[in-house]
Amino acid sequence: MDWAINIPFKDRDDHVMEAVSAARKSDLTEHEQQVVDVLARDAHERGIHTVGGLLDELGGLDREGARGRLDWAREKAGLISATESDKRRADARFESAIRELEPPPPPKWSPLQRCAICGTTPVEPSGAWKRVEVEKWHCAEHEHLAAEGDMDEHVAPYGFGVNGRLVPSEREPARLAEWWRQHEQEQNRERDEREQYARRKGEAIDQVRERFEEEAQVCVAGVRMNPGGVRVNL
Ligand SMILES: [Zn+2]
Repeated sequence: MDWAINIPFKDRDDHVMEAVSAARKSDLTEHEQQVVDVLARDAHERGIHTVGGLLDELGGLDREGARGRLDWAREKAGLISATESDKRRADARFESAIRELEPPPPPKWSPLQRCAICGTTPVEPSGAWKRVEVEKWHCAEHEHLAAEGDMDEHVAPYGFGVNGRLVPSEREPARLAEWWRQHEQEQNRERDEREQYARRKGEAIDQVRERFEEEAQVCVAGVRMNPGGVRVNL
């Protein structure tokens, strides 16, 4: 989304608060009008009295500064910042892109586990299979080999939110992001391999052409000369 700060005005020498009424009469969206409201009031409080003064101040900002100013004004108006809005939009795009690719479902989890390294079963004093609460159980001997998060308490990938809606746990987006990273890596590797193959094939064709050109050098009266020697065609 392209963001902009629009300050409608009739005359640069108008009082800065005139921008607020000019905005209300303009075709700016309600949110844009709210931003003008915040910026004009703030300028006024800081002793900038004309619309021109506000415009000069905003015009002197670089891209980053202007974005910061817009974020600030939107938040002050009770809206989400432009940056947050962009982020949410990007997240939503990412989520729908990822859904289209059908990532594998979250790994199945069970409280009945064996050591991920040696297969030892945790047991109760009674000898029964002991239930565990961690993501991926490792026995005491192999606990040091557990990856980060393996021995953390298991969190269901999805829970139920209001209205019975499925809500992903905090870890689920991380799992999907990791899957996506690997997916991209895989794609890049495949592309590199394809390019390398095409290059090798191109080189091979060049070699054949060179050899052919060498071999096709001179052929006089059935005697063909090439770097390898002389051959008489019968
Ligand atoms: Zn073990």
